[in-house]
Amino acid sequence: MLTTVTAGPYTIRGVSVGGVYTSLAVPELHLVLDAGISPRSSGGIDTILLSHGHADHVGALPALLGIRALHGKVKPPRVVMPAEIVDDLQAALAALSKLQRWELAIDAIGMMPGDEIELRGDLLVRAVRTFHPVPSLGYIVVRRVSKLRAEFRGLPGPEIAARRLAGEAMTEHEDRLELAYATDTLVSVLDHSPDLLKARVLIMECTFLDDRKTLEAARAGCHIHLDEVIERADKFLNEHIVLMHCSQLYQPGEVAAILDARVPHALRKRIIPFVPKSEHWPG
Ligand SMILES: [Zn+2]
Ligand SMILES: [Zn+2]
Repeated sequence: MLTTVTAGPYTIRGVSVGGVYTSLAVPELHLVLDAGISPRSSGGIDTILLSHGHADHVGALPALLGIRALHGKVKPPRVVMPAEIVDDLQAALAALSKLQRWELAIDAIGMMPGDEIELRGDLLVRAVRTFHPVPSLGYIVVRRVSKLRAEFRGLPGPEIAARRLAGEAMTEHEDRLELAYATDTLVSVLDHSPDLLKARVLIMECTFLDDRKTLEAARAGCHIHLDEVIERADKFLNEHIVLMHCSQLYQPGEVAAILDARVPHALRKRIIPFVPKSEHWPG
């Protein structure tokens, strides 16, 4: 029942139907994005990024914590979320822990837009503001590499070593935007955080695809309509754009055809619709 797509070096595996459930795993980054459903295979991953508190994004977190126990995981996972929802989520987990007579523990990390946390090695996660009726965040996974400063490139190795020994600051940081995640938001997120448009892989909601939902109605619900993606076609610099959180108004079997008919070729060839291969949604 899981959908798996490959976007550059990353595998994106999970389920996403707008308003129903969304949870995606990116195994190469050891990340789970949202927990609206609890795929068994996501139980082995130790960091979960939550976009917001709507049930289709957090409703299956308790089940995912239970699956972790089946995987033999004893350490609580890191669960990154908007700072405003930490207390409410902890209270919900406390109530469910009572119900289960078993503690649903998480290492909760509240973030504000612009905050960064270290993931592992040279990877970090940066929070960006998204626009939804409840506290919400998008995330950018950044690889921060240190490299020789431009003025020292081309110098012979021994001289570089000598200068380094003498205590000169020889290196500088470069941020490579690896993967971005923005769901349940107005499209203005792209204007507010243009780094989303530069990430190697952008995973973004596109809940509505044609006039079965008007642009006005999509905006009223704080969701992105394909019309708005098309309007900005030449702004996306991403190598791959994974469109997810598709409404059940559309059957998975028709999504690719709608994109083919509507999206300019230069953008369409970089878009990967995150829908199952089946004609109809499962379940
Ligand atoms: Zn949603
Ligand atoms: Zn939502």
